[in-house]
Amino acid sequence: MPVASRIAQFTEESYWVRRMFEEGSRLKKEHGAHNVFDFSLGNPDLDPVKAVKDSILEAAGVNTPGIHGYTPHAGLPELRAAVAEMIQKDEGIAVDENSIVMTAGATGALNVAIRTVVNPGDEVIILVPYFCEYPYYIDNHGGRAIKVPTLADFLPDLGAIDASITPRTAAILITSPNNPTGRVYNEQVIRGLADLLIYRSSQIGRPIVLIADEPYKVITFDGVRVPSILQAYPNSMTVSSFGKSHSIPGERLGYIAMSPGMNDAARTMDGLILSNRILGFVHAPALAQRAARRVLRDIIDVSVYQRRRDRFYQALSDFGYELIWPEGAFYFFPKTPLPDDATFVELLKKRLILTVPGTGYGMPGHFRIAYCVPDETIEGSLRGFEDAIDEARAVPSGKMARRM
Ligand code: PLP
Repeated sequence: MPVASRIAQFTEESYWVRRMFEEGSRLKKEHGAHNVFDFSLGNPDLDPVKAVKDSILEAAGVNTPGIHGYTPHAGLPELRAAVAEMIQKDEGIAVDENSIVMTAGATGALNVAIRTVVNPGDEVIILVPYFCEYPYYIDNHGGRAIKVPTLADFLPDLGAIDASITPRTAAILITSPNNPTGRVYNEQVIRGLADLLIYRSSQIGRPIVLIADEPYKVITFDGVRVPSILQAYPNSMTVSSFGKSHSIPGERLGYIAMSPGMNDAARTMDGLILSNRILGFVHAPALAQRAARRVLRDIIDVSVYQRRRDRFYQALSDFGYELIWPEGAFYFFPKTPLPDDATFVELLKKRLILTVPGTGYGMPGHFRIAYCVPDETIEGSLRGFEDAIDEARAVPSGKMARRM
């Protein structure tokens, strides 16, 4: 067959993603989209704010000759400078445009970052549960994903990270606010991680690069702030996206910000720019870049997600679901009341509720709910969530056949 064996294997392994889409579409066709409660995707339902929409329209309407040509591989200089200024203000760190590369979303940024710092056979530490695509991104560039457990509250387990570092460790990839848990790593955790990485980098004789994937950085609740990674650890890069913060994931715009303290900074930046080019992105979409500069701060109304978090969390806990109180992003990652997460997800599906088994995030026995959906979807689903947990509890353990 013409399909490479790794891709054939991954297609098989990630079968559940396709299956979810297919099942979701089938159920919506059969029962009507309004009667299906779809919590399976992190695709924000909120419309971008007016300033963002206006800026996209304006960018599309510009008639200057050459406006539709290529941009520099690193992105438009004025946009890179504006992003650098924003980071400088927010994080109090001296970055300029030479530390910024505009990318095709966070996905593009992650692939560019990994491509730049990982040799074939190198190891990249990811923390379980992880964003389901990470192992594939690492494999794309010949790296090996080393999956390290987190603590019961989903914070990084520094002892476990320490034990998993080897001379082949090129990078560690963290996500805060986290998908799928909603956990935000506090200052103390980040300081501890930075100290550990500084110590172990000197021990193994290579700088372990900290890649912080932060597309949800501004989606935090109750005044929680995401600590500055670039401040905390010199060999770091943050990856971000306008997808979730501005509700424009389809426009595919993100960026990498590199710490000015990065080892061999100029060559690393050259590597990031080259990777952006040769991975086939060439550069971030030009129209989105032109639209973004004046609306960097025009994010969606985060209080909407916070209100949903409060309401939904209360209802799920009242029904008996075990879950942490998320401080950011728009996900819950409760334990499944049955040991087999796929079976429980099927019980929910019987009630037209679509969620994702924790197995996809490296953590069976849980499931992910994405609450970036209208309030009516949340309200309409509550009875089904209650029924499903009641049914799961009524069945003696081990008696429920796996149906997925
Ligand atoms: N990283 C995390 C943790 C995500 O949740 C997502 C999207 O859901 C991405 C990266 C990809 O973001 P983008 O759409 O900007 O490529």
